[in-house]
Amino acid sequence: MMNVVDSINALRSERRALSGRVAFVPTMGNLHAGHLSLVELAAQQADHVVVSIFVNPLQFSPGEDLDRYPRTLARDLAMLSAYPVSIVYTPDEAQLYPNGREAHTQVVVPWLSTQLCGRTRPNFFGGIATVVTKLFQLVQPDVAVFGQKDYQQGLVVKRLIEDLCFDIELVMAPIVREQDGLAMSSRNQYLTASERALAPSLYAMLQAIQRELQEGLYRETLLQDYRQALPDAFVVDYLELRSAETLQTLESPGQGDQVLLAAMTLGSTRLIDNVVVTA
Ligand code: AMP
Repeated sequence: MMNVVDSINALRSERRALSGRVAFVPTMGNLHAGHLSLVELAAQQADHVVVSIFVNPLQFSPGEDLDRYPRTLARDLAMLSAYPVSIVYTPDEAQLYPNGREAHTQVVVPWLSTQLCGRTRPNFFGGIATVVTKLFQLVQPDVAVFGQKDYQQGLVVKRLIEDLCFDIELVMAPIVREQDGLAMSSRNQYLTASERALAPSLYAMLQAIQRELQEGLYRETLLQDYRQALPDAFVVDYLELRSAETLQTLESPGQGDQVLLAAMTLGSTRLIDNVVVTA
């Protein structure tokens, strides 16, 4: 039985009624096969799965896509009902931020939040860290499942679990892609037909760089060469090779586990993707 609750009191009481291990999958809704793979993985890890659906205003900066972010709750619930989900929590903003967004206590994960996506999206990781902390407090999960699609987010959550002493196991789920390689994302639907046709070249580029790195062909201009070869329609925010574990910049690429991360805009759509490179 899937219980859909939208209040903190109802969530707490449904949560208390669950026995055994609980796995949690936080989402912003507009579910696709990527989200559903997380739900499946969660079900394998625990006796009960709790999913949250909340477009978190705190993680958007002015001028970003908060207002147009797709909200498809009825469809999302219909999709989830085919999975072994015990609770779906669908709060609204007034409930999670009753004193207003600005007045809310913030959880800050200092250095990680300023890197990569944090450079152009100043509120992003603070907003995520804050809402994830609240959701962890409310859901009290034993396991939390996040997607590798949002690699930096995964490391931010890992750090906050450690620093705030949450007794939660973090599971990172592999990226689910369209047949042509484009990482699934709720934002893909913003793409025009011609942008959609170009979008897979982002992952193709990451794979090509990954191949060169794995063959030991690192050179100083490697990333720049590929960046320049992208179709003109892409506006690159970043394309960087970092330590897979810490996200630190690398003194000597080619050693240890690395992650190649990219963010770019195509028209008005921001796309992110990454691949792990094992040396
Ligand atoms: P979102 O609704 O975009 O906040 O995503 C909710 C969760 O689903 C996050 O942990 C994401 O990393 C994960 N996710 C989103 N897209 C994908 C994908 N294509 N493959 C795997 N996980 C994903």
